[in-house]
Amino acid sequence: MKRVLITGAAGFLGSHLCDKFINEGCHVIAMDNLITGDMKNIAHLMPLPQFEFYHHDVSKYIYVPGELDYIMHFASPASPIDYLKIPIQTLKVSSLGTHNVLGLAHAKKARILVASTSEVYGDPIVHPQTEEYWGNVNPVGPRGCYDEAKRFMEAMTMAYHNVHKVETRIVRIFNTYGPRMRLNDGRVLPAFIGQALRGEDLTMFGDGSQTRSFCYVGDLVDGIYKLLLSDYNLPVNIGNPDEITIKQFGEEILKLTGANQKLIIKPLPMDDPKQRQPNIDKARQLLGWEPKVNRAEGLKITYNYFKSLSHDELFKTEHRSF
Ligand code: UDP
Repeated sequence: MKRVLITGAAGFLGSHLCDKFINEGCHVIAMDNLITGDMKNIAHLMPLPQFEFYHHDVSKYIYVPGELDYIMHFASPASPIDYLKIPIQTLKVSSLGTHNVLGLAHAKKARILVASTSEVYGDPIVHPQTEEYWGNVNPVGPRGCYDEAKRFMEAMTMAYHNVHKVETRIVRIFNTYGPRMRLNDGRVLPAFIGQALRGEDLTMFGDGSQTRSFCYVGDLVDGIYKLLLSDYNLPVNIGNPDEITIKQFGEEILKLTGANQKLIIKPLPMDDPKQRQPNIDKARQLLGWEPKVNRAEGLKITYNYFKSLSHDELFKTEHRSF
């Protein structure tokens, strides 16, 4: 039985990875400091003997007893609202935290996959974004704490690979959605669906001409798993290239939910990328992977998840302690 450590295990992506590794017959050691994660995302796994949970901040020294085959480093705030509120923790988890998990991988002779992001491309000048593009990031802007920490994480990961021969994998994750996203994390999909369900107008930032390309979480997790099992150690984009403007996206959500409200314009946040679309040629060629779930299907599943939340959860505007 392979033993895998998953950091950020109680978060949106981390919890889906826990499910994946349990389904693949692994022993999962889940770690989270619960600053943005939520135990309810992994509550269904807690009774399993092959699942353990450690409440721990990976920016501090990590102790894990026994052997480890894989480490999946998914701990980090990942929405602009979160990392604006907790920029120092955001910087620490991808710098100090990455150093700790790489040291652990070296000591345990484990293969490690780190979760990087399309944010390393910043507000991209090259479109769609290939892995060879170096990006256009403002280090001192509101997204700097996240973007630069993830860029540091990639550099540190390459250094451990080159110096200590650690088996490393780097995934660059593009916008992803699905059940267990936090309703109030500020991202566009939970924002729009939450507003539709509460009978509020949908807050479109700017004129809505900026684009994003949304990947269903099940597809993302399959791509990440394939990358882990591959022998490729340079960054690989995983995302869905189906690009849409935020205005069209809002209209799709209104149609899906049957809401009578309208899109209203709010100020565009500083350094909001104008366009984003992954080039996934590398994932196709190296991993034989491409997304299978189209937006209509994925949005339906996600909408049903949000509809199933309680009235309290739906109307709670902020439930984080930070
Ligand atoms: N956005 C919006 N209304 C919202 C939240 C976000 O129009 O209530 C826009 C945001 O300005 C950005 C896009 O939707 O252009 C995606 O934002 P998100 O925070 O989901 O992710 P990111 O900008 O990191 O891709």
